[in-house]
Amino acid sequence: MRILDVEVTCRNILLERPFKTALRTATEIDSIEVTIHLENGVVGMGSAAPTWVITGDSTESIQAALLGPIKKILLNQHMDNFQSLLMDIQTSCVGNTSAKAAADIAMYDAYSKLLGIPLYRYLGNHKHLKTCMTIGVDTPEIMSKNAIKNVDSGFKSLKVKVGSAPELDMARVSAIRAVIPPDVTLRLDANQGWTPKQAVQLINQMERENLNIEFIEQPVAAHDLEGLKFVTNNVNIPIMADESLFSPHDALKLVSGKYIDLLNIKLMKCGGISNALKIASIAETAGVHCMIGSMMESDQSVAAAAHFAVAHPNVRYFDLDAPLWLKEQPEFMKYVGEDITLSTQPGISKV
Ligand code: MG
Repeated sequence: MRILDVEVTCRNILLERPFKTALRTATEIDSIEVTIHLENGVVGMGSAAPTWVITGDSTESIQAALLGPIKKILLNQHMDNFQSLLMDIQTSCVGNTSAKAAADIAMYDAYSKLLGIPLYRYLGNHKHLKTCMTIGVDTPEIMSKNAIKNVDSGFKSLKVKVGSAPELDMARVSAIRAVIPPDVTLRLDANQGWTPKQAVQLINQMERENLNIEFIEQPVAAHDLEGLKFVTNNVNIPIMADESLFSPHDALKLVSGKYIDLLNIKLMKCGGISNALKIASIAETAGVHCMIGSMMESDQSVAAAAHFAVAHPNVRYFDLDAPLWLKEQPEFMKYVGEDITLSTQPGISKV
C-alpha cells in the first residue's frame, strides 16, 4: 500500500485560560496537522504544536520540515516498510522533533487503520488511564483556589508548577497542601527554575514538612546533568527529567549514569511514538519508571501519546490534561474527571 500524498495544514486553537509555567505563558497554540494519503483511500493523521522555549520548533519550522525532507522520504513508499519508514523520518533531518512526531503519529494512525485495529491494540496493551491536572504557577492564594476547584472536579493528583520566583515556592506548595485532602498527591514541576543548591534546600524543607509529594520534575537547567544528579543524590523525593530528556540517547545516558529516578516522555521532544517506545524500554531495562506528558497540544497528538502510554507497561504516570486547557472540546479522548477513555475504532480515532 503506497503513500500517495502528504498534506500539511495549520490551525490556531485558543486556550480556555492562560497556561503559566516558569518558562512561558501561553494563551493560544498553533496546531500543525499532517495527513498521509494511502492509495486505497486510508488516511493517517498526526499533529504537532510548536514550543519555542523547549524544543526550539516554530510553526514555520514544523511546516518546512514536514513539507521538505519528511515528505520527500515518505512519498511513493510502501507501508509494508512501516518500521523502516519510521526510522527514515527520524534521520530525514537534524532536530525538528515536533515535525517528526507529527509524521510518526500519522504513520502509526495509517498503519493501525490498515490493520483495522485501534493503535493501542497494535501496540499490544490497554491499561486504565487517568491524568493529573496542572496548577499553573501564580500567587499561593490563586494556586490554592485552583487546587480546590480541580479536586472538586475529580482530580486525585495535581501537578503544581513552581520555579518562577522560587522564594514563593515553599508558600505555594504549603498553601495548596493545606486546602486539599491528604490522599490527593502533588507532583511538582520546576521547569528548570532552581539552581542545584536551591533545589536541594527547598526539597529538603518540603520533605521535613511532609507535603506528600510524589516526585519533582526538572528542578534545574536542562543541560546541567551534574546539577540534576546532585539534586537526585541529596533528596528523598524522586526526581524526574523532562527538558533534559529528548532522544533515546538522552534516556540511555540519564538512566545508565543514574542522573535521575524517573523520566517524562513527550512525543514532541522525542520525535514520536517509535522513539517513545525505545525510551520506555531503555528505562525499563534500567528499572526506571516513566511518565507520559505533553506540551500544550491539540487532543489528536495527546491521544496518540495516550495510546502509547496505555500500551507500554513501563509508563506508570500520566500527565495528559493539555486538551482540557483548550477552548475546543476534546474529540479524540473522553475525559470524565481524571479518567480518560480512548476510541476503540481503528487507528487514533475520535471517541
Ligand atoms: Mg515538565
